[in-house]
Amino acid sequence: MPSDSINLYGRVLVTGNIRAVTGLHIGKGKEGVMIGGVDNPVMRDALSNQPYIPGSSLKGKLRSLAEKRDPKAQPNMNIGTAKAKVRIHVCNDPTCQVCTIYGIPGQEGAQAPTRLIVRDVFLTEESVRHLSALNLDQPFTEVKYEASIDRITSEANPRPLERVPAGAVFGPFELVFSLYKEDDCRLLRNLFEAMRLLEDDYLGGSGSRGSGKVRFEDLSITIRPVAAYAGEEVAAISFTAEDTQALRHQEDAIVAAAGQVLAS
Ligand SMILES: [Zn+2]
Repeated sequence: MPSDSINLYGRVLVTGNIRAVTGLHIGKGKEGVMIGGVDNPVMRDALSNQPYIPGSSLKGKLRSLAEKRDPKAQPNMNIGTAKAKVRIHVCNDPTCQVCTIYGIPGQEGAQAPTRLIVRDVFLTEESVRHLSALNLDQPFTEVKYEASIDRITSEANPRPLERVPAGAVFGPFELVFSLYKEDDCRLLRNLFEAMRLLEDDYLGGSGSRGSGKVRFEDLSITIRPVAAYAGEEVAAISFTAEDTQALRHQEDAIVAAAGQVLAS
C-alpha cells in the first residue's frame, strides 16, 4: 500500500474523569456580559446552565504543552482575532508529531486527517448534586476576588473571577485517537505525556495565580479495530489505570496493541 494512502484501521478511546484540584475558570471573555452579571464569567452549557470544559480548551492546552515539549514545534502562526491573538505552531512536515496529532487549523495543506478528537466534558451527576446542595455565589460556581496591588499606594484593586469550586469532577472526558498510519501507535505516548504535563500546569485562566490544577482519574483506554464498527465480533482491547502515573506502566502494552490493529 502506498505510504500516502489514508486508511482508518481503528480508534483508541481514552476516557475518564477530570477533577478540579483547585478552582477552575474556563472563561468566555468579556463579551456578552450583562449588566449585573459577573465579570470574568465561566463557559456554561446553554441547555443546562452548568459550567463545562469545552473540548477546544482541553485540546488547545494539550497541544500547547506538546508544542513546548517538542523543540521542532516552535510557534510560527497567529490564530484568533486581533484582540485575542494566540501563537501556535503549524507545519506541513509529516513527521511532526504535534501537527499530526492535533491537526492544522482549517486543514490547509494537511497530509492526513487530524488524529485527535476531544469532546466537551460536562460535570458528573454526582458533582451536579453536590454543587447544587452548596450555598454558592452563582449556580455551580464561586466568585473569587483576586486583588492587584498598587505598587505605590499598596491599595488593592479586587477583581471578581468566577470559578468552578475545587473538588468538582467533570466526566467522562473522551479523547478519540484515530489510527491511520503504521507509526500512529507511537503518537499515543505523546498524548499521554501531554496529559501528565497538564496536571503540573493548568487548564483555563488564572493558572499562575492558583486556578486550573486538574487531575485525570479512573482512566480507561479502549482500542476498537475498524471491524468492530462494521458489527463484526471483535474482542475488545481495554486497559484501565487509576491515574496518569499508573498509566505509565500500561503504555508499552497500549502502544503494542494499537500497533497490532495497524498491522492487521
Ligand atoms: Zn508541525
